[in-house]
Amino acid sequence: MKQLSIRTNSRSEMIDITRAVESVVEEANVRNGICYVFVPHTTAAVTINENADPDVPRDIIMELEKVIPYQDNYRHREGNSAAHVKASLIGSSETVLVEGGRLLLGTWQSLFFCEFDGPRTRKYVVKVVATGSETENRKS
Ligand code: ZN
Repeated sequence: MKQLSIRTNSRSEMIDITRAVESVVEEANVRNGICYVFVPHTTAAVTINENADPDVPRDIIMELEKVIPYQDNYRHREGNSAAHVKASLIGSSETVLVEGGRLLLGTWQSLFFCEFDGPRTRKYVVKVVATGSETENRKS
């Protein structure tokens, strides 16, 4: 397991962490397996979406802010209920298959760390588990 640190720059933001997660897969030297990404925060999340057009994460953030406004009749005294709701909607983990030492993501997919109550220094953890390939499993 590896814990990584990330500095966010605004209140709501999606940061592409694919390269950093791939580095953990390379260090783990796993050819075939499963990669787990977990965000241990209640106001941040992780998701997979399009990396090619930066307007996609921007639009996701914009729509989330319409659906879950910062100001409402929230009771949570810390004043960041919107961030808690967004974090639960997006989720705190992702699972990506590892094949041939690489993350099995679609051409336009990236892993994004989602900040909903920044800017802050955050962390996320990555665990790579070797499972062997389909062919290797059949042989054993
Ligand atoms: Zn709170």
